[in-house]
Amino acid sequence: MCSQALEIFNCFWSKDDIESHSGQIIARITTLVKMSEQPHGLPYPGTMPIPPQLWSFTERHQRFFEAKECLAADHSRCSGRIVRAHIIARSQLKQIARNGHVVAVPNSLLAVMRMQRTGFKVEEIGVGEFSTMNCFCADHDKTLFAPIEDALLNFSSQQLALLHYRAIAAEFHQRRNQQESAASELDWESDKPPDVRFSWIDRCSRKASEEAYYALFRTEKLIAARRFEDVGSLVVRFDAPPAVMSVGAFRPQYDFAARRVQNFALPCCYLAMHLLAADGAAVLAFTWLRANSAAEQFVRSFAARAREQMASLAVQCAFEHIEHTCMSDTWWSNLERPMRAALLERVRRANSLAYRRSPRCLSYRIPYADWPVADVR
Ligand SMILES: [Zn+2]
Repeated sequence: MCSQALEIFNCFWSKDDIESHSGQIIARITTLVKMSEQPHGLPYPGTMPIPPQLWSFTERHQRFFEAKECLAADHSRCSGRIVRAHIIARSQLKQIARNGHVVAVPNSLLAVMRMQRTGFKVEEIGVGEFSTMNCFCADHDKTLFAPIEDALLNFSSQQLALLHYRAIAAEFHQRRNQQESAASELDWESDKPPDVRFSWIDRCSRKASEEAYYALFRTEKLIAARRFEDVGSLVVRFDAPPAVMSVGAFRPQYDFAARRVQNFALPCCYLAMHLLAADGAAVLAFTWLRANSAAEQFVRSFAARAREQMASLAVQCAFEHIEHTCMSDTWWSNLERPMRAALLERVRRANSLAYRRSPRCLSYRIPYADWPVADVR
């Protein structure tokens, strides 16, 4: 057994860490599993071509991640085709784009597979392509999100509830696709025992998608009843132009004070992070369903940090937990090389089977950004 396969096997039995991978990881494990079965194991030497069976595996699984469906509760009002909806609005991305492009680590299966051979790096990605997801029909996308798409962002309680809803919907869509992708490798009618690795991936992503669905269902109900205040929020406004944008939902494991927030072996809750722009300045918002004590502990630990650390902590958190994270070319290019390396290392680790998140993963370490805090509420 090659060492990577051993890691896969070890991960299977390491219950406490079983779900320490962030949202996008589980799908990529399927790639790693297949790669580990190749005669040369992992990693491929940089010069070795990607074998045809791996291409076809990736192609087959990429289809699951491009599945189209409308997640709005009331399907009787679906109309129009499923659109490629932006998780980060195009109008937001344009504020940090240069020549219509932002800078980000690419996140398709194929790109990740390549980078596992050649090293993680950023690329220029068109604003029309970045952070899109096929999870709403044209009509629902337009009507549900009009208050955040057609109006300026002011982080009202309604806008925060809708931002939360969209981030959770994207997470649910992604996690369910991952689960279906893993399940497609399992043949329950076979006489042979199921592949333990794909069974594990199936089980982890099923738990995550159920927890995301619970959050989605509750958020929909609150929005329908216009109980926007039931979505908790912390909004930090910076006195600096936007440079990094990041939107996503995740289940925090450790907080900013290196304390455990929740145990992945038990039911877990989600929170969402939104690093966006308003009035030409960067704004960070955390959103969660009130009464989720784990989410509240996580956010309280952020609010308790020194204000001069908040921008850097937001950047750290985005690279640690959020797949849809991008930045301006200027900001990235002006970072010192060790800082760029540290952020890329976070992405690489998050894509590694061997990664066990440290309690100090969000502790302040490096001054990535010096945006002064103008307001916290
Ligand atoms: Zn619809």
